[in-house]
Amino acid sequence: MKDINNYSDETKSVHAGITENEHLAVVPPIYQTSTFKFYNTDHGAKLFASEEEGYIYTRMGNPTIEALEESIAVLEGGYKSLACGSGMAAIHTVFASLLQKGDHVICSHAVYGPTTTLLENIFSKFGIETTFVDSSMTKNVENAFKRNTKVVYIESPGNPTMCISDIKEISELSHKKGALVVVDNTFMSPVLQKPFKLGVDIVLHSLTKFLNGHADVVGGVIIAKDEQSYQNLRKTLNLLGGTINPFNAFLVHRGIKTLAIRMERHSKNAQKIAEYIEKHPKIEWVRYPGLKSHPQHEIAKKQMYGYGGMISFELKGGIEAGKILMNNVQLCTLAVSLGGVETLIEHPASMTHASMGKELRVKANITDGLVRISVGIENADEIISDLEQALNKI
Ligand SMILES: *Cc1c(COP(=O)(O)O)cnc(C)c1O
Repeated sequence: MKDINNYSDETKSVHAGITENEHLAVVPPIYQTSTFKFYNTDHGAKLFASEEEGYIYTRMGNPTIEALEESIAVLEGGYKSLACGSGMAAIHTVFASLLQKGDHVICSHAVYGPTTTLLENIFSKFGIETTFVDSSMTKNVENAFKRNTKVVYIESPGNPTMCISDIKEISELSHKKGALVVVDNTFMSPVLQKPFKLGVDIVLHSLTKFLNGHADVVGGVIIAKDEQSYQNLRKTLNLLGGTINPFNAFLVHRGIKTLAIRMERHSKNAQKIAEYIEKHPKIEWVRYPGLKSHPQHEIAKKQMYGYGGMISFELKGGIEAGKILMNNVQLCTLAVSLGGVETLIEHPASMTHASMGKELRVKANITDGLVRISVGIENADEIISDLEQALNKI
């Protein structure tokens, strides 16, 4: 086979990270072991000194986990990746690796709720200060820079408001100011957005979402763009201990084989549903990057290869109307999380973004009436009929 990097995303999804093994199994085996034997003391010492390749202990590396890491690094176009026990473990590892006391972070205001809380409640204890800005306008990022700004952290599209930031523009600006750019690419997956091509330094994902795609694993991943960045992140991850386990790594790698076709279907279904919702008389507003009415539709067209499966909207009648909708769906499931094959619906203000507190939510435009849908790969017309019957109850 020619170099996997020269193939399309559809082919990379299926083949990346699948290496030959001793029994020529087509699917890489699950090495469900915590530790690996040394032939003798010399061998052990050489492995610890990185003078020889091999495995020592699963927190530091495992062939099943490495196969997954290889597949994601190839899809993102990065150097190497580090699989983690959760998306939050990945985010924690990145911040702990890059920051020290006295540093300043600029963060998109619409990000995964616990990311805000991690910076506000945990990293603040260690003398790290964060400014949250509406990064959909690069000017706001520029104005937030301080002499000690070390990291610019972007989620685009932002969770849950779907606002979009110009990743290339922000990367160029940040590099001029001497800061690193980290992008949470969870909502897009590597198939629909390639932040390294837009100039960023580190990409991360919650594997729990589109990459795994089947709502049965919690995991995360960090993708590094070069050896130096990779080694720094690896040292931090080994010490913090937020490693994924071999079985979950196997499941995520299995999920990734259908990533390209799933993303195509998620996007097609969500476009149809967003267009339906937009015309519905009970809707106040809807945000989907594929709608011309989306305020950053032009940026979306420029930097994304598809518009993804996430929609947010608000009903006339606010949260009370939203509750009736969420309590009456039959095919859609009322649950947090996203990116699985099944359609999920949730209420960010009382669920995923409750821990942020009202004040930060208001600033981030996360209104009490905002409803978020993760559109699955079911038949789009059947999802629409379900929403229709629930909307009729309002
Ligand atoms: C879910 C999510 C996370 C956190 O991932 P976990 O796997 O739940 O720890 C981070 N960022 C985004 C955008 C997410 O949707």
